[in-house]
Amino acid sequence: MSEPFAPSLYTPQRRLTRVVQVGDVAVGGNNPIRVQSMTTTDTLDTAACVEQVAELVEAGCEIVRITAPSLKEAENLANIGAELKRRGLRVPLVADIHFTPRAALVAVEHVDKIRINPGNFADKKKFEIREYDDLQYAEEVERAAERFRPLVRRCRELGRSMRIGTNHGSLADRIMNRYGDTPHGMVESALEFLDVCEDEGFHDVVFSMKASNPRVAIQAYRMLAARLAARSRESSGENGFAAPGYPFHVGVTEAGDAEDGRVKSAIGIGALLEDGLGDTIRVSLTEHPAREIPVAIALARRCEARWEQEPCRVDEATLFVDDPYATQRRHTRSLGASDWKIGGSAPVRVELDLGALPADPEACAREIAEAQRRFPLLVCEGLGVEAYDESDRSSLQALRGALASEGLRFPLALRAETRSVMDFLGMCERFVVPVGRLIDDAGMLEIAREAAARSCPLEWELRGDNDEIPSLLDRALEASSSAGLEDFLFSVDALLPVHAVRLLCARLRVRGAADAPLVLRYRKPAACSDPHALLAASVDLGAALCDGIGDAVVLSGFEKACVALDLGYRILQGARLRSTRTEFISCPSCGRTLFDLEETTARIKARTDHLVGVKIAIMGCIVNGPGEMADADFGYVGSGPGSVNLFVGKECVERHVPAAEADERLIDVIRSHGAWQEPG
Ligand code: SF4
Repeated sequence: MSEPFAPSLYTPQRRLTRVVQVGDVAVGGNNPIRVQSMTTTDTLDTAACVEQVAELVEAGCEIVRITAPSLKEAENLANIGAELKRRGLRVPLVADIHFTPRAALVAVEHVDKIRINPGNFADKKKFEIREYDDLQYAEEVERAAERFRPLVRRCRELGRSMRIGTNHGSLADRIMNRYGDTPHGMVESALEFLDVCEDEGFHDVVFSMKASNPRVAIQAYRMLAARLAARSRESSGENGFAAPGYPFHVGVTEAGDAEDGRVKSAIGIGALLEDGLGDTIRVSLTEHPAREIPVAIALARRCEARWEQEPCRVDEATLFVDDPYATQRRHTRSLGASDWKIGGSAPVRVELDLGALPADPEACAREIAEAQRRFPLLVCEGLGVEAYDESDRSSLQALRGALASEGLRFPLALRAETRSVMDFLGMCERFVVPVGRLIDDAGMLEIAREAAARSCPLEWELRGDNDEIPSLLDRALEASSSAGLEDFLFSVDALLPVHAVRLLCARLRVRGAADAPLVLRYRKPAACSDPHALLAASVDLGAALCDGIGDAVVLSGFEKACVALDLGYRILQGARLRSTRTEFISCPSCGRTLFDLEETTARIKARTDHLVGVKIAIMGCIVNGPGEMADADFGYVGSGPGSVNLFVGKECVERHVPAAEADERLIDVIRSHGAWQEPG
C-alpha cells in the first residue's frame, strides 16, 4: 500500500477529522480525546445500569455504551435514559448491537449513537468455508446493505451517530474467505458499510478496528487511515490527510486485567495515538469498568501533550521499516559474545540501567539475585552503569565482584561521557557513548578507535531534540567508519522517543547502515509513579517493538529491579515478541455476560498462570466469545446460565459443562492436548 497511514510519520501530529456529535459530546476535530466505557450490568436491570453509569461518569467517563442483545434490552434503553435524566446525569448513551438489526432499529430511538459490528450485523457467523465468485460476493454485499440501510436512514433522520466497529475474529464469512481474518479483511468489512452510509448521505460515522493482539489492531487502524486518505485524495485530488476524515474510536479488545491488560492497552492505543490516530478511546479491562477510566485518561492526556509539541522540522522520504502494515522484525546484524548476543536472531533482550554506580554494590547484587530467585523467568540480561572519572574504577571493580559472588552472569554496559574513562573499556561488555553537545568529533573518533581495538561493541546513544537525530547519527557513523569500527549499535535519548527511533531507522536506511542493532531505552522520571511508568514505558517501547524495531529494551529509574524486569518482559509479551507467562485473553464483560468474569478470570489464572506461552481465553458469552477470542489455544466461554463451552482453538470440544466443573474440565482439556504442566 503506497499511502502513508498518518499525516506525519516523524512527528506526533493529530489526524484531521470531522466532528461527530454523540449527544452533547463532540468527538473528533480539535476536541479532546474522549474517554468511554461500557456497562457490565444486565440491560434489563434499569437500576443497576443507572448506578453503574453514575459510577462511570463520576470516574470521568464521557460516553457510555450499553449492550442491546435483543428487542427487550433495546426497549429498556428508554427507561435507563429516562432514569438518568431524572437523576440529572447527562452522558451520551451508545447501544451496542450484534446480530440483531431489529434491536438496532428500536435502540436508535433511545440513544445518541449506535455501534454496529459489520461482521455480524447482517450475517450469522457460521465459519463456513466456501468460495465466492465476484457475482456471488456482490450479491452478499448487497444483501448486507439492504439490512443495514434502514438503520442508516433512521440515524440520519434522528441525528444519531454511528460507530462501524470491526473486530478481529468476528468478520463475516464472505470477508474471511476472501481476505482471511486479517487487518485487510477488517478494513474491507468496514468500508462496505461506509459505502452504504455515504450512499445515503450519512456522515456521522466513527470507526474502530479492534483486536486483542495490539499488533493486529495497529495494522488495521493504520490500513484504514491510509484507505480513507486514498479515497479522499481520489475524490478531491488533494493530499488525503488534508481533508477531515472520519474519527477513530481506538481500543485493544479482550486485553485482560491487571498489569497485562494495561500494558496491552497502552501498547496498542498509545502507538496509534502517537500517530495522531484516535479521537475517542476505550480501555477494555476485565475489571469494574470504572477502573478503565483513569488508564484511558492518562493515555489520552499524555498523548495530547505530545501533539502540542513543536513539530519536528526534519522529514524523511524513506520509510522507517519495509512495511508498516505488517510486522516483521527489523533485520539486524548480531553483536557481542556468544551467549550475550544482541541483534540478529537473538531474542529482544531485557536489561536494567542503574545509572550511577551503586554506593553499595553488594546490596545491589543481592537485590538482583533475589529478583532472579523469585522470578526465574524474568532474567536480567544486562546491566548498565555510568562512570565519570578515574575514581569510579574501584566501584566498577567492586560491582563486578559482587555480581560474580552472587553467581550473576550478564554483560555490563558502561556509559561514559568523557574520554577519561576509556581504559574502562576492558571492564565492560558494551560501551555506551552519548552523542550530543558534550562530546566533539575528535573525542568520538578516539573512543571508536579504542572500542575497535578492544573489539568492544559500542552503543552510540543519540541525545538531543528529534530534529537533531539525523545529524547526530551522521557524526556517529562517520566516527565508526573512520575508526574501522564495525560492532556499533544505536539508541536515542529524546523527548519524543517513538518518532526519534523512527527517524533513526529511516536515516540508517538512507545511509546504508540499516542492519545496525537498536536498543530501546525507557527512563522512569523520579516523580512518576510505577503505574504511570507502566503505561508510559508500554507506549514508548511497545510502539517501536510492534513495528519490529528494537533488539533490547533497557529500563532505568525504577526503585526495584524486579518491577523493572517484570515490566520489560510484560511489554515484550504484549508486543508478542517473547512469551514468559500465560497469555490471558478475557473480555471486559457486558450485559450479555453469563458469569462473574472478573472472579472467573482470577480463579482460572490462579490454576493456570504457570503455563508459559499458553494462550487461554475467558469470554462472557457464546454470541461473540468464540469469534473474538482470536488466536487463543484454549477457550472458556459462557454458553448459558451456569454453563460453559470449552474450546481448543476455534473448535468447541465440550458443550454445556456445568460451571462448577468447568475449571477442572478446562484443565483436563489442556492436559489432553499436551499443554499442561504441574505447577512449580
Ligand atoms: S464476549 Fe464478553 S464483552 Fe463481548 S459480547 Fe460477549 S460477554 Fe460481552
